[in-house]
Amino acid sequence: MTVVSRKTRFLNNAGVITVLLLFCVGQATSSFLAIHLLPNKFYQLHQLLFSIVFLLFGVSYARVFATNPGGADDWHLLRIPDTPDIEQRECEHCRVEKPERMHHCRVCRVCVLRYDHHCPWVGNCIGLLNLRYFLQLLVYGLLTAAYSALLQLDFVLRVMEARAVRGKNPPVLIELFAFYIAAIGVIIGFAIAAVLLRLLYDQVSYAARDITTLEKVKKHAGYNVPVYDRGSSIRNLRALLGPVVFWFLPLHVQLP
Ligand SMILES: [Zn+2]
Ligand SMILES: [Zn+2]
Repeated sequence: MTVVSRKTRFLNNAGVITVLLLFCVGQATSSFLAIHLLPNKFYQLHQLLFSIVFLLFGVSYARVFATNPGGADDWHLLRIPDTPDIEQRECEHCRVEKPERMHHCRVCRVCVLRYDHHCPWVGNCIGLLNLRYFLQLLVYGLLTAAYSALLQLDFVLRVMEARAVRGKNPPVLIELFAFYIAAIGVIIGFAIAAVLLRLLYDQVSYAARDITTLEKVKKHAGYNVPVYDRGSSIRNLRALLGPVVFWFLPLHVQLP
């Protein structure tokens, strides 16, 4: 069975990826418009901070998409003690040995190490080697959405204030147009931020116990799932995300 290439994964998810990118560009443009049309005294600082957050969001997105989530060759990174009594399995699709914590993804047509889930929003599986980029994506997606919503809310409130002072004079057309776009942006931005916050909370609490979404689901369904918890959240997070100083940087790090 052939592994699905990056190009095919991109094309298969082109619809979702395009919607996501258009939305991001829309929110960013509207936020920059809001900063420019009625600049407050911190507007240069907001411009810089928003650009940094948006850039980190873009880089983590590219990293989650392009990074191999990990396969059988990376199994030693999991550091699971030898368990000779566990029966060796073989993947019925790939026809290769399937050690513990490997799961076959039918979309990517490959066995993934510490498989968490297949994410259609990024067109890739989330496994051991791209989990840290996925968590960073959630963090920077949340920050981008919340920041853009706040910038646009500030703009909406300022326009309302200015109109109250000006009375019934006809508003400038561009200002009126930007006002409605920003008002929609505020609602969408906060709604996305709320969804991402919930996802981030779940994912971080799973990682802190070293359990995957799939294992969590299996456990709920009554299956006997082995425990991989190292007894401390920080130890689990370090094993999955690397050294603490790199937790928020979408750079390649060697897992301990
Ligand atoms: Zn497989
Ligand atoms: Zn997949």
